[in-house]
Amino acid sequence: MLIETISVFPELFEPYLSASIMGRARRAGLFEFRAHDLRDWTHDRHRTVDDAPFGGGQGMLMKVEPIFEAVEAVSAEGPRPHVVFFSPCGRRFDQRAAERLSREDRLLFVCGRYEGMDERAYALADEVVSLGDYVLTGGELAALAVIDSVVRLLPGALGDEMSPVDESFSADAGLLEYAQYTRPASFRGMDVPEVLLSGDHARVAAWRRASAVERTARWRPDLLERASLTPEETELARRAREGA
Ligand code: SAM
Repeated sequence: MLIETISVFPELFEPYLSASIMGRARRAGLFEFRAHDLRDWTHDRHRTVDDAPFGGGQGMLMKVEPIFEAVEAVSAEGPRPHVVFFSPCGRRFDQRAAERLSREDRLLFVCGRYEGMDERAYALADEVVSLGDYVLTGGELAALAVIDSVVRLLPGALGDEMSPVDESFSADAGLLEYAQYTRPASFRGMDVPEVLLSGDHARVAAWRRASAVERTARWRPDLLERASLTPEETELARRAREGA
């Protein structure tokens, strides 16, 4: 997979994408990364990428021409990329979107800054993504979050092929992940559930499923609308929601 970004702060990406799982996946050739500087597509001495909004108002907007030139030039360097823009007005990003993007061969992320972009720039977007209902200073952090969530789904990225399957929001379960513990088995009066120490795989699996239902009911009951639960699990979720 080829992943590219266009932004006015291309240097922000390298440290994160060189470290830990991202760095390992990159060195293993699971993805290639290129950060493009939007200012390379400006034509004035000051390499200007922003201007005041028509109609007045606070702050500056990213100009449409450099964005068009950049996206067109980068796109022409190979097979057509899937182009993603960022905005708090975009569609809320989730695990399903990460799974969908992980099947693309080439992704191009275009990051905003300032008060956002000239609206005409969005004509280039295959999709506009929001990380959530809050405002960041720039799209670079949003791009890194999306890149991270996509790369860890690439086969081999996590080492253990099963890891992404069990996780919260995975398309299979639609539930949050079950509670997990490591040593010590007892800490300040808080004991690990006995079943997890039993070595009985069937009981452990049943406990984990119940734990996932309970945690989802308590923390993200909205997710249960799409999950398929047995009548016993529905009752378990009801009791967890009521704090019983
Ligand atoms: N004035 C814009 C508004 O109110 O919608 C906010 C612009 S924000 C300060 C600058 C850039 O940060 C945006 O163009 C976008 O690229 C990025 N950004 C900010 N919040 C974001 C979010 N919740 N999700 C994704 N990108 C975001």
